[in-house]
Amino acid sequence: MRDFTLTKYESLLQAIKKTNYSTCSVDDFLKNKPGKCIILRHDVDRAINRNLAMAELEHSYGIKSTYYFRHIEETFKPDIILQMAEMGHEIGFHYEVMDKANGDPKKAIEIFKKELEDLRKVTENVTEINTVCMHGNPLKPWSNRDLWKEYDFRDFGIVGEPYLSIDYNKVFYLTDTGRTWADLKIRVKDTIDKSEGKSEVNAKADPKAISSTDDVIHLIQSEKVSQICLLVHPNRWCEDFGGWTKELLFQNVKNVGKAGIVWYRSRTQKKDTMTAGL
Ligand SMILES: [Zn+2]
Repeated sequence: MRDFTLTKYESLLQAIKKTNYSTCSVDDFLKNKPGKCIILRHDVDRAINRNLAMAELEHSYGIKSTYYFRHIEETFKPDIILQMAEMGHEIGFHYEVMDKANGDPKKAIEIFKKELEDLRKVTENVTEINTVCMHGNPLKPWSNRDLWKEYDFRDFGIVGEPYLSIDYNKVFYLTDTGRTWADLKIRVKDTIDKSEGKSEVNAKADPKAISSTDDVIHLIQSEKVSQICLLVHPNRWCEDFGGWTKELLFQNVKNVGKAGIVWYRSRTQKKDTMTAGL
């Protein structure tokens, strides 16, 4: 079976359901401090419909997770945000305000206030916005969470930020960044601060032994670690990804080819008419 498909994600959910782990959103985790649990966290970076498909799949298993929405045109879709909130998922704010303010924290905090307000307006009748999570941009010299060196998110009614409020020495952290679960060094901005090798949780499970979703499933089935946080980007998960990429490329080549022929023909015809004119 191909990895990083919705079907594969369903196998992961089914595996969790057969264990003694409970699943929770980031807000649940911070408020209720469950013992043995898997925190499910999603960044809505793009491809909103794939996010909705994943939310519906989780909902069909009675699972509530967190969806962090970017405030950009492609993902800030009130009707979809509401649909997900109504399924019981936590809605959070995936902020990138330092990027938008070109690294100026004073400007950034103003944008943060406004965008958070926009999101709260969408969900006000259904749910609260209690947690926020930074969006990573490896091309920028700053990190969006640098904002909290100058300001305190609690002043904005926010209870937590997964990069700052969860202790990854105790919670085993796995992310699908780069379409692999392997602990790659290329993840400049998705990395978390932990004393490498020394953490309590890494003594129980070795992150280097994990790269496929099957590896993640085996880790969960073993129930070796009591708390796990999975960061899943739904835009990377779809049915038959290779198939449609190939199709798309093929289509583009065909179109370029067609355009080339049209251009060549018009050029030679012009030449002909010009010659004829002379
Ligand atoms: Zn992101």
